Amino acid sequence: MTVRRVVPLILGWEDLPKSVSVEGADPAERLVEPIPGVLLLCDGGWLLLDTGFNPALIRDPQLRRRFHGDPLFQPILPGPGDPLEEALEASGIDVDDVTAVGLSHLHHDHAGGLRHFAGRVPVHAQRAEVDYGLGPHPDPEAHGIYRVDFDDPAIDWRLAEGDREIAPGVTAVLTAGHTPGHQSFVVDLDPAVGGGGLVLAFDAADLTENIDHELAVGGRVHATPEQTVEAIRRLKSIAAAKGYQLVPGHDPVAWPTLIAEMARRFAPPR
Ligand SMILES: [Zn+2]
Repeated sequence: MTVRRVVPLILGWEDLPKSVSVEGADPAERLVEPIPGVLLLCDGGWLLLDTGFNPALIRDPQLRRRFHGDPLFQPILPGPGDPLEEALEASGIDVDDVTAVGLSHLHHDHAGGLRHFAGRVPVHAQRAEVDYGLGPHPDPEAHGIYRVDFDDPAIDWRLAEGDREIAPGVTAVLTAGHTPGHQSFVVDLDPAVGGGGLVLAFDAADLTENIDHELAVGGRVHATPEQTVEAIRRLKSIAAAKGYQLVPGHDPVAWPTLIAEMARRFAPPR
């Protein structure tokens, strides 16, 4: 059996310049982008892709000054509690039902919920990403990768060096550029639920226009704009070959649309 259900989540929002998502965009133009997470029902339980913000770094004034002090980048939490717990609860899934985590990359809006899983479940990432994140301060932190989110000996890392199937029907695809070990995910849906699938770009392509017009991603770690376009082309060719939809990671329209599509597709029969 491959994947039998897809539940995309919104784990918060981020108010930021569009130029973070699209290289060369007018820096005065701003977007409020959703923070993505995805639950996939696989053999063995729920696989969670990405974990959202660490709310302590946003709510505690001193931590906020250090980690979210730039007024150009403002995180928005969806509710008063823990954003991951709230999103899972709204989906009827308990944090304890998550049996594995796949991480696209270590940016603070994706790795901030890892603390829920340390010492509990395997966490799939690329070795290049974790090596960079645990590398010399302050370069990772200057690039939005906060060691406090993942420097925990209790995390059961499963580190890949390139593409790898991390669960039946879920393949991590190396799309470095946005960060040194960014990975995207190809999801094969089981024939029992109608087949087909999705290619989840995450931050290899924030917006639909990154994909449609092959526009370089603005946020990059030691990579050229062209490298991020290469990653987008790679995802487009995988999606075309499989006949799957390619979904951008932070698009204010495409992400809520995916949530609605998946809710319709996997609605309980009445
Ligand atoms: Zn990112």
